[in-house]
Amino acid sequence: MKEIRMVDLKSQYQKIKIEIDSAIQEVIDLTTFINGPAVKEFQSSIEKYLNVKNAIPCANGTDALQIALMSLGLNPGDEIITTDFTFISTVEVIELLGLKAVLVDVNPDNFNIDPEAIEKSITSKTRVIIPVHLFGQCAAMEEIDKIALKHNLYIIEDMAQAIGSEYIYKNGQRKNAGSLGNIACTSFFPSKNLGCYGDGGAIFTNDNNLAKKIRSIANHGTKIKYHHEFIGVNSRLDTLQAAILNIKLKYLDEYNTARNNAANYYDKALGNNNKLIIPNRSKYSTHCFHQYTLKCQNINRDELQKFLKNNNIPSMVYYPIPLHSQEAFNKKKNNEKNFSVSNALCGQVISLPMHTELDEEQLNYICQKLIEFVNNN
Ligand SMILES: *Cc1c(COP(=O)(O)O)cnc(C)c1O
Repeated sequence: MKEIRMVDLKSQYQKIKIEIDSAIQEVIDLTTFINGPAVKEFQSSIEKYLNVKNAIPCANGTDALQIALMSLGLNPGDEIITTDFTFISTVEVIELLGLKAVLVDVNPDNFNIDPEAIEKSITSKTRVIIPVHLFGQCAAMEEIDKIALKHNLYIIEDMAQAIGSEYIYKNGQRKNAGSLGNIACTSFFPSKNLGCYGDGGAIFTNDNNLAKKIRSIANHGTKIKYHHEFIGVNSRLDTLQAAILNIKLKYLDEYNTARNNAANYYDKALGNNNKLIIPNRSKYSTHCFHQYTLKCQNINRDELQKFLKNNNIPSMVYYPIPLHSQEAFNKKKNNEKNFSVSNALCGQVISLPMHTELDEEQLNYICQKLIEFVNNN
């Protein structure tokens, strides 16, 4: 059996090596390392793929979030509501900009931000909601839209884990993650569903005025060369990374299908026990399975992880500590009682190997070992 990895970028690369190598070589031959033709090409391809008017490539997903927030004309102390159960980036940039992160609890089934908790946290200082489409499923956007409309708030989607997923509205209409809010932010970190071979990110918006401002902020606040309108940052997608993404974007749907096939295999093998709870599938979103995350119930998660490791099966805990308990933030301002779900999830969740190259032999072995553990505990 092939070695089981959490993410197998090596096997994926082997299949597209000829195309990737020649795309990289072409950039080197042209020496257009900054803002070369591949960047423009990627920009228009991803606009088409997501059906958004504007894509602004940048250096990474964290920058994308920071630049998005910088474009909204916010004032120090303005409040940004986001989820307590996610990667640190979202909250980090809020605090860096002198804004106030207001963390709220999540839905216990799909791990996404709880609209009721959002509504309860709104004050006269609230300006923005940042839903994160965690593990590959869209947050409850229809309800979040309603709240934003009622209170006149911006929505910034963090779609770093959900590229290729669709939101399904109650009337049956479907829209891509990345086109659901005022602005959307993503990351092309190598292990993401659309990953480059280093760092990369992008910002999306259908608002042409915001797009202009975002493009300028990402480029030192430049209006015309050497005329700086705002305080900006330097955040670009390398031409080499764009060239790689141009190849990989063509395979994204295929890759997401491969992830769904692996997820279906796990679901089928693990759906009939009451100790490892398989991921919930929202009615209102497709799933691109950035992660396949189980919930341990009446079974010790850390023991399970040790058992898997001893059997050469990698696993990860996304995320072990809720954001409100991170040392980097002032713990005192948060009320523990408001985070019963995220607190519980951090002790229960375990993510299994999930990537585009898992074969049946590996999946079968992983599931057999999981069932063996369940039966003995
Ligand atoms: C990966 C990720 C980011 C950050 O992306 P980087 O490119 O690593 O800066 C932000 N938010 C979420 C939800 C992510 O998964």
